[in-house]
Amino acid sequence: MQAFVLDKHKNPLMPCHPARARALLKRGQAVVHKIAPFTIRLKDRVGGEVQPVRIKLDPGSKTTGIALVREEEIVSLETGEIENTAHVLFLAELNHRCGKIRDRLTDRRVFRRRRRGNLRYREPRFDNRTRPDGWLAPSLQHRVDTTMAWVNRFRKLSPVTGISQELVRFDLQKIENPEIAGVEYQHGTLAGYEIRGYLLEKWSRTCAYCGQTDVPLEIDHIHPRSKGGSGRVSNLTLACHVGNQKKGSRDISEFLATKPEALKRILSQTKKPLRDASAVNSTRWALFEALKGTGLPVETGSGGQTKWNRTRFELPKTHSLDAACVGHVDKVVKGDQLVLSIKATGRGSYQRTRLDAFGFPRGFLTRKKAHFGFVTGDLVKAVVTTGKKIGSSLGRVAVRSSGRFNIQRTGTVVQGISHKACRRLQRADGYGYTVVTPNRKESAFLPGVNAEVSSARRG
Ligand SMILES: [Zn+2]
Repeated sequence: MQAFVLDKHKNPLMPCHPARARALLKRGQAVVHKIAPFTIRLKDRVGGEVQPVRIKLDPGSKTTGIALVREEEIVSLETGEIENTAHVLFLAELNHRCGKIRDRLTDRRVFRRRRRGNLRYREPRFDNRTRPDGWLAPSLQHRVDTTMAWVNRFRKLSPVTGISQELVRFDLQKIENPEIAGVEYQHGTLAGYEIRGYLLEKWSRTCAYCGQTDVPLEIDHIHPRSKGGSGRVSNLTLACHVGNQKKGSRDISEFLATKPEALKRILSQTKKPLRDASAVNSTRWALFEALKGTGLPVETGSGGQTKWNRTRFELPKTHSLDAACVGHVDKVVKGDQLVLSIKATGRGSYQRTRLDAFGFPRGFLTRKKAHFGFVTGDLVKAVVTTGKKIGSSLGRVAVRSSGRFNIQRTGTVVQGISHKACRRLQRADGYGYTVVTPNRKESAFLPGVNAEVSSARRG
């Protein structure tokens, strides 16, 4: 995970290694600009040489993977072709709060119905239920908005020159291209991955012959190639290994002669093209339109292409590395990095009361958001020198009007910390930050930040 670097006038320079950032801070040549994502600002430098940086996005329903890469085109010595190498600078995953938004809106609707349910029926005065073109449900619009917010943030922190987005799940043009042959379906080419992804969706990840799921599936020609069956996707299905072996090179009508219903079902399924086969996902398209609005060139890729790249590069399946594999790329370098996990937390609630499990009001919330100069969501460092709570903790604060705050770190909450022990490192911005290791087994709260902050203070 590299540190972002800004010049004197807050213009972005190339990110640097954390060790270099520490050295610059120690020598007093830079100041800490932002804790998460960690950014330093050089005191004297104005401008500097920058290389092309690309933001790559893998939008998901709960999590969007984000990768910032430095692009390099190298002419391969062996083939003489230009290889597009992506040097990973920064990995992040953005956790959306779609479910929370939906729950809140449901709550609001229920409260309103409770309040107004005892009124007499009134005719609607006018039809106010029309929705503009391109309307998305609030929870989906939130996905687009938070992703765009982070694209814009990263554009302020690094010299971004291009954007890549995974737009569709399959590339239909590659699927319709019938030139692909034989073993290539099973493993290997990009077209093979696209076709596999398409078939898995079309046949619902089920063996066509025995109906098993959760088994490794092989691609099977319904009318065998040896008997002139075509290689088109309409002649392909998925079968478990046993089913595929049993069928062998027989024609399907011969193989399923004793099971006419199964034969009929499979043959009718083959003719059905997968509706919205490119999985036209309104949220992804809305994001694509928003990305185009930035004025930067936007490259789009398919899910099949992402998976093909990830498999070729032997990278683990994580949201952020998937993002690094989006689009046209021949090599990914330095993928095994710490990942900044960004959680959309919102900025609190307008509701003035909470309900208990039975729907009765429980307590009242204060109208004030700030207590003792702190707001819930601030990133604070608390150092307690006396008493039971001795020690230091760094994390997201939840303020209480009593002045005894809770501090949330990864996995744990430290309760009852006095506001006097807290020092704010960064103001609440609607997001919570943690750092996770690539294999996600260990996680620590912003490692290195402690050292970097303390060295900045020393310097
Ligand atoms: Zn089977």
